[in-house]
Amino acid sequence: MEIEEGHSRIHERIENGAYAGSLAMVESEQDIALEDTDRIQGRSALVNNVKAASSLAGAIRSTLGPKGLDKMLVEADGSAIVTNDGVTVLETAKVEHPTARLLIDASSSQDRAARDGTTTTVILVAELLQNALELVRMGVHPSVIVNGYDLAVNESIGELERVAEVADRPQKSQVVGTSLQGKGDSSLCNLLATLAMEAAEALVDQEGGDDLERLRVKRLQVRQGSSMDSSLVNGLMLLKSRVDMATPASSDGGVIAIVDGGLENKKLEINASIEVEDTGVLQGFHDRAIENLQASVGHLKSLGVDLLIARDGVSDEAIPLLSKAGIVAYRRFERKDMELLSKITGASSVRDVLSLKESDTGVFSRRSEESIGEVKHTLIEGSMGGGMTLVVRGSSPAVREESIRIFNDAIGVAFRLNRSPEILPGGGAIQAHLARFLRSYALKQSGREQLAIEAYAAAMESIPRILAENGGRDPVDVILSLAADQQEMGPWIGFNLDEGRNSDMKEAGVLEPLFVVRHALSGSTEAAISVLRIDDVLWAKTDPSTPDWKGEEFED
Ligand code: ADP
Ligand code: MG
Repeated sequence: MEIEEGHSRIHERIENGAYAGSLAMVESEQDIALEDTDRIQGRSALVNNVKAASSLAGAIRSTLGPKGLDKMLVEADGSAIVTNDGVTVLETAKVEHPTARLLIDASSSQDRAARDGTTTTVILVAELLQNALELVRMGVHPSVIVNGYDLAVNESIGELERVAEVADRPQKSQVVGTSLQGKGDSSLCNLLATLAMEAAEALVDQEGGDDLERLRVKRLQVRQGSSMDSSLVNGLMLLKSRVDMATPASSDGGVIAIVDGGLENKKLEINASIEVEDTGVLQGFHDRAIENLQASVGHLKSLGVDLLIARDGVSDEAIPLLSKAGIVAYRRFERKDMELLSKITGASSVRDVLSLKESDTGVFSRRSEESIGEVKHTLIEGSMGGGMTLVVRGSSPAVREESIRIFNDAIGVAFRLNRSPEILPGGGAIQAHLARFLRSYALKQSGREQLAIEAYAAAMESIPRILAENGGRDPVDVILSLAADQQEMGPWIGFNLDEGRNSDMKEAGVLEPLFVVRHALSGSTEAAISVLRIDDVLWAKTDPSTPDWKGEEFED
């Protein structure tokens, strides 16, 4: 398969045995589904676990980096997705082997915590395990390797923090750009990265956890326009219009009330029947219902409410009452939208209108309605800010969903970067540097841990090696020249895939957040160590002193 320049996509059908189940995959000798996991003991357990990890990493290594290939995943029903994203590949596949699951969990955890570096994580686990297996074959006990890996990861993280620098605004953009490399059309990625940066900056002063970037930025799909027309608007935009078209379509602000219920008569139970003996009874029911609605609307009016948002219905009888009181109402709001609106206006939602207190109301600063195509949309801006809507345009759902995926990745990184602005060089630079750093650290260690630290260093080099391979370059040449150039010019020299040569990653703008690199290291080491520990337990069960090489089936 040849590598094409630019953004043309190469679709590679995965024919790796790591996939089974819902994906139509070709069976191969690398099939990792093990039926006899329980019975596998001693060394052969480790061999099989390493095999599982390697075959999984093998399936996604060609997606690493901007020149990585796309994978086309074919589902059992014939539908297909094309992706360059390691975590998508892994999460879509049905994988049975416990070690393979562990790798997928490590990459999902990377995705959740750092939103990038998922492919890197899986590759590192597999390399760490492969190198560990080689040591085990030389007679090094897994627990020694675990100790060495522990020392190595701690030293490495310390070194990452020493090398890292605080990013300025343009560098933050470059970091977001680097994280989107290869994920889609470059002008679309640029647009979405810019919007993500804007959104992330608007959230800087907001309190809350990492899920703010999800909760405070609504993604709204609009069919009209092309994906390049997507935009970010301040406030909550939604596909909805007011209940009474006779009320004003826009407003310059006022008091808002949010009700986690409705403004309607209690419905009679479906099976209940009432015997109406004289017509006055029915009229009585109706009158009382209207009185209740009047009381509710009167209560809203007494609190000065201009805008009512209801999660449930607003009944036909209530609509004229509200309009007469000068209250514009919206009904059937989704809870997510209510929560966003509540944040940006300061209103807290109450169960029913009559329990609303003045302190529950909030302030909106603008409301407007706009037809996009034939469809009415409403925009409500809050007085407190901190909430936005990404209006995702595009002609087909697939195009819009692709934009949303790219935006999600971009804002995930942009948002975290504002909280942790330290950055590191990409292009395999930081891993090449760690490899050199760890090798000199290993020399200071005594005993067999030294071997494990060297094995760890070698695993780090897999990242520049695979980046070079995917860029169609000789990996050995790249590793050697990187080591030489870094020796002379320091750790910020990396392999620039756009130019096909080593360069200063700051000048090239190939930058990665410290939190991505650090989490990839700690996550992959943790996963590798837990596989080594499984083996350790099994080994102890048979005979703690002699490795059991029976059933060895690595060289196939
Ligand atoms: P991951 O899922 O691990 O993030 P990616 O496919 O996104 O995998 O690849 C990320 C790797 O590609 C990082 O090591 C990053 O530094 C590298 N990279 C991105 N852009 C470039 C570039 N222009 N030149 C060299 N390396 C790059
Ligand atoms: Mg990435």
